[in-house]
Amino acid sequence: MTTKLLTVTGLGKSFGGVRAVDGIDFELARGELLALIGPNGAGKSTTFNMVNGQLRADSGSIRLEGTELIGMRPREIWRLGVGRTFQIAETFSSLTAVENVQMALLSADARLWSMWTRAARHRRAEAVELLDQVGMAAQADRPCSVLAYGDVKRVELAIAMANSPKLLLMDEPTAGMAPKERNELMALTKRLVVERNMAVLFTEHSMDVVFAYADRMIVLARGRLIAEGRPAEIRDDPKVQEVYFGS
Ligand code: ADP
Ligand code: MG
Repeated sequence: MTTKLLTVTGLGKSFGGVRAVDGIDFELARGELLALIGPNGAGKSTTFNMVNGQLRADSGSIRLEGTELIGMRPREIWRLGVGRTFQIAETFSSLTAVENVQMALLSADARLWSMWTRAARHRRAEAVELLDQVGMAAQADRPCSVLAYGDVKRVELAIAMANSPKLLLMDEPTAGMAPKERNELMALTKRLVVERNMAVLFTEHSMDVVFAYADRMIVLARGRLIAEGRPAEIRDDPKVQEVYFGS
């Protein structure tokens, strides 16, 4: 039996009387891009935030290679190899692309944190290498404030890679992007997943993106998991059609 990278069972969370996530189960293997979709209020963000430790689950289990994550702080979970990107790209706009990645390399290394300015110099080559992997080496020394939005998203991906995550969580990675940029970002993400043998769990509104790039998808509606499988298998599922199109 192969051990999955992530195993979620019976995961649940209530806010007052609202059962935001109502006992969901799913697994994620290395090398896989899993899309988490569902209408607004379905429980996608709540699920994400439980996996990265920002929210504490009130039932169930989230295991990363067998280790229970529920009850751990976000920083501990991050150290175990769960990275994330944000819906709005978050970089230090006054720093250059390469300085942003250097910051991330340093924060992944607690011993160096206290003397970061000196240490940062030494890690420039590593940071440039990470930028090269996302096609941004040529723009390493430009401040993030002057970069195109799609390029900032690439820098953000390099930042997330600094911790060598096993699992990367991406909340609506393509929000606000033009179709061309969107496809480039997802193709890049897919390449990183394969090259680094990691896994990605992402939420996405665009069905075009899900169908083009996800290996598997899970569909949430009102906190319940209503469908799971390969995009081509799920496309015509009546439960999914109903949630999306009310048919
Ligand atoms: P999605 O990301 O799929 O749009 P969410 O996970 O944000 O859905 O929300 C799921 C449900 O939980 C919604 O009914 C939402 O109103 C509720 N909810 C989410 N976060 C909170 C919170 N911090 N306090 C109260 N209710 C919340
Ligand atoms: Mg959300």
